[in-house]
Amino acid sequence: MNDSPPERPADVVARLRAAYAAGRTRPVEWRTGQLRRLRAMLTERGADLAAALNADLGKSGAEAYRTEIDFTVREIDHTLEHLAEWLRPEPAPVPAHLGADATAWTQYDPLGVVLVIAPWNYPAQLLLAPVVGALASGNAVVAKPSELAPATSAVLAELIPAYLDTDAVAVVEGAIPETTALLAERFDHIFYTGNGTVGRIVMRAAAEHLTPVTLELGGKSPVFVDRGTDLETVAGRLARGKFLNAGQTCVAPDYVLTDPETATALEAALVRAVEGLFGADPQRSEEYGRIVNERHFDRLSALLDSGRVVVGGVGDRATKYLAPTVLADVDPESPVMREEIFGPILPIVTVPGLDEAIDFINDRDKPLALYVFSESDETRERIAAETSSGGLGHGLPLAHLTVSDLPFGGVGESGMGSYHGRYSIETFSHRKAVLSKPLR
Ligand code: NAD
Repeated sequence: MNDSPPERPADVVARLRAAYAAGRTRPVEWRTGQLRRLRAMLTERGADLAAALNADLGKSGAEAYRTEIDFTVREIDHTLEHLAEWLRPEPAPVPAHLGADATAWTQYDPLGVVLVIAPWNYPAQLLLAPVVGALASGNAVVAKPSELAPATSAVLAELIPAYLDTDAVAVVEGAIPETTALLAERFDHIFYTGNGTVGRIVMRAAAEHLTPVTLELGGKSPVFVDRGTDLETVAGRLARGKFLNAGQTCVAPDYVLTDPETATALEAALVRAVEGLFGADPQRSEEYGRIVNERHFDRLSALLDSGRVVVGGVGDRATKYLAPTVLADVDPESPVMREEIFGPILPIVTVPGLDEAIDFINDRDKPLALYVFSESDETRERIAAETSSGGLGHGLPLAHLTVSDLPFGGVGESGMGSYHGRYSIETFSHRKAVLSKPLR
């Protein structure tokens, strides 16, 4: 145990800035070395992280590995495999008036000292995956885990300094006061994942120093289920995506839009899907998580009477268990439709058809993800062309974010900027334009 008082944010940043200025983080060998150390941390101490994730969110070991630990290992491996190629300078054609001996190219420069602020719902993955990109790009990094996942925050604060270069990577734990103090410092990039209210606070603080930001936010991600689809498959995939981490996933299907006839058949299929996943009593399933805290439990419980309960609708505040719940006959103006649900409640809203579904989506904030279950190419193409969302999933929720070569991020209210794979290099680097003309 270290009893000395925590280093002040200004001192942390000054220390990292000195290391950055000395060129410590720039060599590709340093970057790949740090990524390998981070990988070792995840494989050697994965069990500690999994235990913390279980304490914070009731995640099963399998889920902790699949969605956080192994997920981050894959992101590291993908980056190690391709980094040299991603960082290669890219030649640009030179206009004739500069002469045949002139050459031009772009090259990726690190930004400097970057700040990563993470939320509580995937508290390891959402801190570490951006850190992978920041290190791969040659930056020094301050990582701020979420105080609402305290066990995970504590483990990360212990492990990261034990594995990574402490001159260039620091963890600052804490809540609003500590984060506010950090945000007063000058960073070269701020990468924030969380809600839009705090996103605005982050962006305002960043504006003081003209610091660029990436904002990975949330919102209500709709699902459109077309007539004539195989509803057993739809319900199975929807339930799996929705109830993972007890619905506390930024790209979880938030609500379903479908026609009244399909809705009736989908209700029955969802009941079977929930039972197939978690058994007759999900409270006893090891695969089913818990709500992060009482405040969110109470917020979610208040949404349960926004419709007719098809399945679930019950909870236990003492253990923060909230059953996987499907609500039907939901009024678009009801409380459950007014905010991002971020919990295990799936409302079904009926619309006459595709035109109304598209209008419904476009009348609201641009979502982080949009999911379409349809056999019709025309329907799929119309939704792709006529709506805007951070990502679009045909036939499978959530999975787009596991494709390392796709950018992950929002648009409008769901955020700005993106990351994963080579898009993390774009985010955490400056693409410098270079022109070279020989003197003779
Ligand atoms: P949270 O409460 O853990 O907050 C996120 C971070 O902001 C924390 O590190 C917290 O300390 C910090 N913070 C909170 N208040 C602050 C303040 N006043 N000033 C400065 N910093 C402050 O997490 P949350 O916001 O409840 O997370 C849930 C939201 O995040 C949902 O909207 C969800 O959709 C979104 N989300 C988005 C993604 C994505 O990748 N786009 C991923 C996960 C979650």
